[in-house]
Amino acid sequence: MKYQSTRGQAPILGFEDALLAGLAADGGLYLPQSWPVFTADTLRSLQGADYATIASRVMAPFMEGWIEHDELLAMLRETYAVFDHPAVVPMVQAGSNDWLLELFHGPTFAFKDVALQLLGRLFDRALERRGERITIVGATSGDTGSAAIAGCADRANMDVTILFPHGRVSEVQRRQMTTVDAANVHCIAIEGTFDDCQALVKAMFNDAGFRSRMNLAAVNSINWARVMAQSVYYVVSAVRLGAPDRPIAYCIPSANFGAAFAGYVAKQMGLPIAQFIIATNTNDILHRFLESGSYRPSGVVPTLSPSMDIQISSNFERLLFEVHGCDPEATSHLMARLSQSGGFEAEPEALARTQTMMASHRLDDDGMRAEMARMQDDCGIIVDPHTACGTAAARSSGLDPGIPVITHAQAHPAKFPDAVAEAIGRRPDMPDRLARLMGRTERVTVLPNDLAAVQAFISNESG
Ligand SMILES: *Cc1c(COP(=O)(O)O)cnc(C)c1O
Repeated sequence: MKYQSTRGQAPILGFEDALLAGLAADGGLYLPQSWPVFTADTLRSLQGADYATIASRVMAPFMEGWIEHDELLAMLRETYAVFDHPAVVPMVQAGSNDWLLELFHGPTFAFKDVALQLLGRLFDRALERRGERITIVGATSGDTGSAAIAGCADRANMDVTILFPHGRVSEVQRRQMTTVDAANVHCIAIEGTFDDCQALVKAMFNDAGFRSRMNLAAVNSINWARVMAQSVYYVVSAVRLGAPDRPIAYCIPSANFGAAFAGYVAKQMGLPIAQFIIATNTNDILHRFLESGSYRPSGVVPTLSPSMDIQISSNFERLLFEVHGCDPEATSHLMARLSQSGGFEAEPEALARTQTMMASHRLDDDGMRAEMARMQDDCGIIVDPHTACGTAAARSSGLDPGIPVITHAQAHPAKFPDAVAEAIGRRPDMPDRLARLMGRTERVTVLPNDLAAVQAFISNESG
């Protein structure tokens, strides 16, 4: 399989290069040049198979020629054995035809583990083959940093350094990063804000000397392999409910559109997905686009679902490319308008194509509290505020009630105990694995918001 950039001006790459490149050289995002398609019989043959088996079948075509099937299957078995449920992504029933897909059984209790646990292993294999070592650097306001650390800890060919704003992440989030006991993991608490942390990371990538000396790399959500790994849980959940002989709808609380685009990939591969419902909080750029075709970022407002508080949805470029006839010129044109005039309008046919696949819904903080309470009262299920955006969207979707709706449960409610307590009057039980973090030793270095100090620390600690 070869990979091309959505903007058409970067080299065509094989899987390994696309994996390590992250962002394409022309600023675009890598996509496979064609979609592998499963027949109905092939999908039927996956019914009853375990997660790793289905994952190997779904992902093999994207890595063809890079890894043999047996090695891939062994890697996937190891990857998903760290999840605390034998089904990896179990489902619970929330209504006669409503389901929750629990994506939070990985090491950090949110769905990013599904992809990042695999990404660390794929990176390690690629680096081993090349005889290279990389330094992964990232900034986090909470969840992504811990998932990246958990995915990279103790991997042979990489160091990982995560910057977070000192005193501005929750205690659980901080401990999920600072208590990981691995020599290649480094946490820096910056005396500043999340934006300061992001600016420092950007400055390190823009420092060509430092970048090549340290072989800097990122594991952000534009990496193709993350999308690829997430397309698996659509296939897994759909065949459990009778696909390909039954259409399924998905409701996805969205921000960077990685999880949602992975659903589009599964649909292109032949999964009968009747409808996607894109759920947002009041940072609703995706909802506004799907209603009007106008893509225009506004300021970020903090909400009860912080992992969805973003302005620019980075993976959305992949969908724009697809619905504009896979035309890199059209995509480049839209992206240029976004950076020059702060927004763009999609072509009417492209919008129509998107709207036949995707509906959307927005929920504010009061709505999230009400929905968390309703889920507790009606179904006896405690959901986190991100998932609540999804279950509310699923209910108001007006879909044919004969079509099962699967809502992604994105994070364990114990990761957001205060928001849950505001809604249902008590804090959710903390899983033992999370509770044990509270007693562990933390390893973290507090540094000023100063590029030279951060670079000196990373040069010293990595390698
Ligand atoms: C990352 C995250 C999201 C947003 O997912 P995208 O793939 O960026 O759309 C939603 N909820 C939670 C809990 C997250 O951690």
